[in-house]
Amino acid sequence: MADRILLVLGTRPEAIKLAPVYRALQADERFEVLLAVTGQHRELLTDTLQALALTPDYDLALMRAGQSQFDLVGAMLPALGAVMASANPAWVVVQGDTATAFVGALAGYLRQTKVAHIEAGLRTGDKYGPFPEEVYRRLVADIADLHFAPTARAAQNLLTEGIPASQIHVTGNTAIDSLHWVLTHLPDALPEDLVSRVPDLLTQRFVLVTCHRRESFGQDMAEILRAVAELAARFPAVLFIFPVHPNPEVLQPAHALLGGLANVLLTTPLQYPGFAHLLSRSYLVMTDSGGIQEEAVELGKPTVVMRKVTERQEGVEAGTALLAGVDSATIVACVSELLGDRAAYERLAVRRNVYGDGTAASSIVETLAAQ
Ligand code: UDP
Repeated sequence: MADRILLVLGTRPEAIKLAPVYRALQADERFEVLLAVTGQHRELLTDTLQALALTPDYDLALMRAGQSQFDLVGAMLPALGAVMASANPAWVVVQGDTATAFVGALAGYLRQTKVAHIEAGLRTGDKYGPFPEEVYRRLVADIADLHFAPTARAAQNLLTEGIPASQIHVTGNTAIDSLHWVLTHLPDALPEDLVSRVPDLLTQRFVLVTCHRRESFGQDMAEILRAVAELAARFPAVLFIFPVHPNPEVLQPAHALLGGLANVLLTTPLQYPGFAHLLSRSYLVMTDSGGIQEEAVELGKPTVVMRKVTERQEGVEAGTALLAGVDSATIVACVSELLGDRAAYERLAVRRNVYGDGTAASSIVETLAAQ
C-alpha cells in the first residue's frame, strides 16, 4: 500500500521549495501525497500555488489582516490537528522555519505521526535574527524524525545540537530544483506588465531589490530604503526594480521613500516564474530574503545581503554574496563598488553550486521510501 504523505505549507517560499517534492511524490506510485495549506500568507501564496500548479487538499485560509504570531499560532494548532486526524498520514512533511512549519511539526508530534523537516539545520545562532524563524526552526529540529539538510554546514549544525547522524540526510536545497524547473519548463514567464512598462528591460542593466524581514521593520528598513534612493541618484543609468512585499511595514515606507524616483521601479510582488526569470537577467541583487540568496548565488548574481546575520554563509564564503548589514552607508559602498568597478563585479559574478545540484527532491523521496 502506498505511504500517505501530508505536506504542510503556509507561505510563498514554502510553496516554491515544496513544489518539486510534491511533483516527485505525485509521480511515484509508492506514495499518496496530500497537501495542506494554512494560508499564513494569502495573496502571495495563492499566486504561487497557481503558478506552480499546486492544488491543496486542505485549505485552512487562516490569514487575517494585521494578525499577530499569537493569533496565527493559536489558530493553526487545532486546525492542523483536525487535518491530520482526517488525513491520517504516515509522514508529515514541513519545510523551513515559518509558524506553519513549527505548528505543522507540533501537530504531527501530538498525533505521534512521524515528521520530516526539509531545509533543516539553518542557523544564525541569534534567536532574534531572523525573528521568529530562528527559534521556529530549532523547535522543528527537536520534533522531527528525519532532517533533510540542504548543505553539509546545516547537517553539522544539527549534529552539534545532538540530532543523531542516522536521521540527517544532506540533499541540497529544493529551491535549486524549483529554480531550474521554472527556468526550463516555463521559459516565457517574464512578467508582461514589467516588459510593457520597461520596453528595453532585456538590454537594460538592472538591480533587483527585495526586503521584507520582520526584524528590519522600522529603523533598519528606513536605512535600507535610503540606501536604494542614494544608489539610484548616484547611478541614474541603472534601473532598480523592487517588487514590494505587501506588508504595510514595507509597503508604506517603500512608497514614501522611493516612489517617484525616475530609475526606481516599484512593483507588486511578482509571480515566482516571472521573478525567477527576472533574477536570471538581473545585473546584481540587493536582498534580505533567504531564498533569493540561494537562487542568486546559484545563478552567479552578485548579491548584497542587507541583514546583520545570515544563515546562508555558504554563498558568502563562496564569494558571490556580501553580507553588508543594514547600515545605509555600508550598503551604498558595497553596491557602488560592484556597479562602478567591473573587475570587482566579475570576481563575484561566478556561478557556484553551493546550495545543491537540483536533485534534492528525488533524494528526499528516495530517503522517505527507504524508511
Ligand atoms: N519571490 C517571488 N516573487 C517576488 C519576490 C520573491 O516569487 O516578487 C520568490 C523568490 O524567488 C524566492 C522566494 O520568493 O524563491 C523568497 O521568498 P521570501 O523572500 O518572501 O522569503 P524567505 O526566502 O526570506 O523566507
